[in-house]
Amino acid sequence: MKSPMLPKDHQKAVKLALELGRRGDPTQLSRLIRATYLPSNEIQRLAASGIGKLAEFGADSAIAVTRLAELAFKGRHPQTQQYAIRALKKYGAAGSSHVQDLLDMARNPALKDYVRAAAKTTADAIALAASDVNNGVQHRCLRCNTVVSDQEFERSMEAFQRCFCDRCFDEVFLIRRNFEMQVEINKTVEAQDGTLVQSKGEKMIAEWLTAHRLSYRYDTKFRIIGEFQIRPDFYMPEIDVYIEYWGLDTPKYKMSMYKKQMLYQQEGKRLISVYPKDLSVLDALLRSKLSIFGCVIN
Ligand SMILES: [Zn+2]
Repeated sequence: MKSPMLPKDHQKAVKLALELGRRGDPTQLSRLIRATYLPSNEIQRLAASGIGKLAEFGADSAIAVTRLAELAFKGRHPQTQQYAIRALKKYGAAGSSHVQDLLDMARNPALKDYVRAAAKTTADAIALAASDVNNGVQHRCLRCNTVVSDQEFERSMEAFQRCFCDRCFDEVFLIRRNFEMQVEINKTVEAQDGTLVQSKGEKMIAEWLTAHRLSYRYDTKFRIIGEFQIRPDFYMPEIDVYIEYWGLDTPKYKMSMYKKQMLYQQEGKRLISVYPKDLSVLDALLRSKLSIFGCVIN
């Protein structure tokens, strides 16, 4: 987290990297590449991920792949490597010359587990994309990996901005609708800033964040973490930290809690867990956890 940049410049560069990734303008590739040379792991990571996002918008794949491969293999921070490796995956067959190096990484016990896992996933995806190019295959389902027809592709992209076969489309659609309805029904508690949340604990967290001017998203949207879709309670984009309030105590809830917590960990995500017993000391807890992530509250 420690960066030699001035906090003001750092914050500006973080915002720019996020914005450029989101905008989907392939002509901004060079600006993102420049951002990867800034002396901050956080900016490198965001810029690498932004470069990945430009892949589908037709960014120059040779330039993108060259820089992403450098970051993937020589990045200073394992999270930068992980993000670069993931971004590389988006360029598919264009990354073919790096498959062997990625497989070597996946087998290297000196590397973090999440870096190795990302390397394996990306190596496999690139190899598959390369063989698809040879076989004239256009699209594959993100969920079950079968080849998807043009019609299936269009329908799914329109609904989810993601490519699913018809069978997975129906399943994803149902899961998502049930989940979102459940979340909507449960959102009955209003925080001071008007955000509707699901419990008293979440309300306290929301109000603490607002009081300390930390911008957050209280998200009803799914987010992809690894291959899973989960819905984090709070996400703070500027510092890339998640907060989950684990409010229930039933065995079923605990099972899914452990699974989600593991997922965050495997993916190297920065998660703060809050439990009901923490609510009486919420201020001290959030302060100390956030300071671990380099975010000091005055
Ligand atoms: Zn499928």
